[in-house]
Amino acid sequence: MTQATSTPFWAALPAGARIAAIAITHAHLDHSAGGPPVWPAPRGATVYAFGDAAAGRSEVMTRLANDGLTAGGEGVDTAFAPDALLADGDVLRVGDVALRAVHTPGHMGNHLSFIWGATCFTGDLVMGWSSSLISPPDGDARAYRDSCTTLLSLTRSRGLMRLLPAHGAPVTDPVARIEALLAHRTEREAQILEQLTLGPCDLNALTRAIYTDLPAQALPYAARNTLAHLIDLTEQKRVSAAPHLNETALFSIAGPCAQTF
Ligand SMILES: [Zn+2]
Repeated sequence: MTQATSTPFWAALPAGARIAAIAITHAHLDHSAGGPPVWPAPRGATVYAFGDAAAGRSEVMTRLANDGLTAGGEGVDTAFAPDALLADGDVLRVGDVALRAVHTPGHMGNHLSFIWGATCFTGDLVMGWSSSLISPPDGDARAYRDSCTTLLSLTRSRGLMRLLPAHGAPVTDPVARIEALLAHRTEREAQILEQLTLGPCDLNALTRAIYTDLPAQALPYAARNTLAHLIDLTEQKRVSAAPHLNETALFSIAGPCAQTF
């Protein structure tokens, strides 16, 4: 749950302080590169995480990755190797601190969030200043929405008062923020379907049609989110991809409604 900086965070600790554990949310370089081998072993700390960069991928993303789909250059830490694994529901206890791990794939398959009392460290699942990047095959739109729904349920059942994202300010209205993120995904999906009713379209043309307010240099990242939605819609059989489901496919509305007469 740390961000890589030029100065390790433990430099701020008192001399002689011992770091027992480091909990990593996911294997993007601005988070997991805090662990070995990039860092020198910080005073014997054990690095905990869900797994390596490919851990926790959904079935469809595993299949697409095996077929050659690669990430969009968002800094996957392919060398990440945690010392110890945490599964969904595991509690990491260090002294009198207890962190409950929640598997929250979507931004990345191996993404964990950590509940500490009424606070949840949400990594890149919920960010303070923007929606999350969902870049297949590490990102998965269906898993992202499922994880947001899980976090929403936990927020209500456990009375979470505060989300601490890895990027951006603390979120002090968790329910409203998570509901807004879910609504944003629903809106994007509707925009894609609406655009496809006009006719078959490729990924880049779809992205340009939907993200009309973005500067050109941001469009490649937006295209990754669009691709994530298209894969999800294809899995739902609401969209078809020809000749094969990947970033170069031609996408159409699936089913009899797609026929032109
Ligand atoms: Zn990330």
